[in-house]
Parts: sequence; C-alpha cells; structure tokens
Amino acid sequence: MMKNNVSRRSFLKAGSLAGLWGIWGANKLYSSPDSSADEPDLLRNSQINFGKSRRVPYRPVKPVFPAPDGYVTLLADLHMHTVFSDGLVWPTMRVSEAHREGLDVIAITDHIEYTPYTKDVPFNLSRSYELAAPAADRSKILLIPGLEITRGRQNQTGDQAIKHINCLFLKDFNALNVPVMKEAVYAAAEQGAFIFWNHPSWAQVDNKCVWYPEMDEFIKAGVLKGFEVVNGTLYEPDVIEWSQRHKTAMLGCTDAHELIGYSYNFMEGEHRPMTLIFAKERTLSGIRDALENKRTAVYAIVKRDGFWLDMLIGNEEWLKVIFNAGVRFKSIIEKPSDGVETELEIENTLPLDVLLKAINRDKPDMAVVQEKIVVPARSKVKIRASARGLNSKIVFQIVNFQISKTRFLETEFIL
Ligand SMILES: [Zn+2]
Ligand SMILES: [Zn+2]
Repeated sequence: MMKNNVSRRSFLKAGSLAGLWGIWGANKLYSSPDSSADEPDLLRNSQINFGKSRRVPYRPVKPVFPAPDGYVTLLADLHMHTVFSDGLVWPTMRVSEAHREGLDVIAITDHIEYTPYTKDVPFNLSRSYELAAPAADRSKILLIPGLEITRGRQNQTGDQAIKHINCLFLKDFNALNVPVMKEAVYAAAEQGAFIFWNHPSWAQVDNKCVWYPEMDEFIKAGVLKGFEVVNGTLYEPDVIEWSQRHKTAMLGCTDAHELIGYSYNFMEGEHRPMTLIFAKERTLSGIRDALENKRTAVYAIVKRDGFWLDMLIGNEEWLKVIFNAGVRFKSIIEKPSDGVETELEIENTLPLDVLLKAINRDKPDMAVVQEKIVVPARSKVKIRASARGLNSKIVFQIVNFQISKTRFLETEFIL
C-alpha cells in the first residue's frame, strides 16, 4: 500500500510525458521492437493532461463584484446539507468547496426532521457545524451556524404542501427540535436567528409559489426576514415581488446535497447560485447586519423564457451601484454633432456578461445604435453610434439585471 503511494507520487512528480513514455516503452515489447524517431511527437500530440490536472485541480475564477461605498461585497451560500441530514458529503467538504470557489461565507443548514442516515451517522443537530468550524477558521471562511426546519408533506393540492424554513446564527440547535412548526420558528427567533423561507415554489403545482397564512403571521411578528429567490436552478419571479412587498432580503442558495462540482460545470463558466452580501465589515456580525437590512442581491444562472442566463437579481439600489462601477461607456468622438458617426466603447469588468438592449430608439434625441449588444464578462466591445442632434443619448435596458418581478435595470449614456 505504502509502496504504491510512493510510486504514484513520483510518477506524478516526473510529469505525465515521462510517465506515459514508461508505459509506452512496456507496450513496445509486445508491438514494435524497433524504435521510431517520431514517437515523441506522437506521444506529445496524443497525451492526456493527466499529471497536470491531478496536481492542480481546476479552480474556478472567483467572481469579484464591486462594492457600494462603505461596504464590502461578500459571496455567500447560506443553504447546504451534509451527511448529518440527507446530504452526501462530510461537513468539511462544504468548506473546501467554498474555499476553492472563492466564497466568503457559508451556512450548513441540515434538516432537523429529515435525517435518513442515523444508522451510520449519529443524530446530532450541531455536529455538522462543529466539524466544519475549525476547517472554516483555517480557510478564513465565515461559517454561520444554521438549521432547516422541514415541515409539511408534498401535496399537489397546495394547502398541506412543503414549508421549509432556514434559521441562521443559532445558539441552541436543539431548541428547534419541537413538534409544532410555529414553535420551532419562534424558538429560533428567540435566539435572534435570521429566518428565511426556502424554495417557496418547490413541489408546488406547476412550480408556482403558494403563499401560506403562517407566513403573514411570521412577517407581522417580524421573524421572517428573507426569501430564497433562487434555490439551485429553481427560480420564481413571484418571490422577488414577495420580497419587495414585505421588505425582506433576497437570497440565492444552492441547497446542495451532492458535491457542488457535480451540479455546476466550472470549466464551462458555470457557478453555484450565490447571495451577494453588502456588509460593513467581513465578520459574522457584519453579515447579520447586512441581512437584517436587506443589503443583498442574487447572482445565479437561471432559466428565463427557455434560456439559461447568468443574472443579477435584487433591488435597483444595489444593482445600479454594481453596474455603474463595473461597466464603463466611452464615445471615441466627444460630443459628436448631429449626424456624426462615432464609436462607442463598452467595457465590462464584471464576472458576468451584460446583455444590453437599446430602448426608446424612436425618440428624437436618441442616437442610432444597434438594438442588442452582449458585452462578455471581463472584456470590451466597440459599436457604432450616430448622433442625432446635440447631446443625443442612448438608453439601455440591462436584460440580465432584474430589479423586480417584471422590470430590468436601465442606464443612460449621453454621447
Ligand atoms: Zn428544503
Ligand atoms: Zn435544504
């Protein structure tokens, strides 16, 4: 066993080409005893990137977003599972994944009422947090103690359907292990937990959100302070409206049960859904303050009108700051007079593409530009624009920056 490990390590150290050359050499005894001058080329051209990929696992690029004045922008995933409920990974793996993807903060929120592996993993509501905490400390990841209250039955008629509620910043995990759902929620609230409603459309008829009277009560009592607008790939614009109507935080979470890398293909530019948190400081109390004050936005790949789009979803106030700090417009000719054609340079420093649609193009003071423009993440494009009158402008709708159930961010540029 030991010997195998050593030889494997030295194989990797020697590099894949040398390693493969050894294998080829052995095969040669059975095939062609004559050595050929162009074998190294053949090997080089057909080699598999094995050794390299083993030594340096593919690391996704950390998505860096600008921060509003006075805040830091933190990347969070506040809903994940481990083997201590029905997840398939050990708690420290959640920390490793988050570290690899550049997240700042995570919450492991194992189910209280659904723990299918108790034959092998002891029932212990705080254990996943306790196991992950030292690893999070080492990786400088902020770990929030949390649980998921899991009540109701899957029922296509709606009234008895599933209600799942996440509670963060818990002090006493066991206090939530009580028979009545409301009691569990209030037990969390008494500890000052930040409480949000998970995936309101999941397991509902046609994936349409259903509002429950309990939620009115929780809102009125001031204990329900957030909604999951995105859960994995589940996205329901109604929840944006609920969140805005009730003035709660919008969240985007994975609800991961398997390895993150099984669900999101980083090499293709995919990423897990995240909550952007605009915090006064990178601490747990800074995060709590931001969540309580609804300083969040959702960064997620969601399906809209049949297309998978990389989106930012949140209140206009935050999306505007991110857009203005991350995307710059520049006309090559300054103040072109009527009829003059100029080149408009659009630079996108954000980690997601921006999809621009020129609107109000018929108005007399609007410059003439093409209607649809994609500015890929971290790059620049140039388009032609013709001035119409002095100070002619262009109004763009940013199609993948959603600011309400039906509205998208708009921006104006004067040539
Ligand atoms: Zn759930
Ligand atoms: Zn869950």
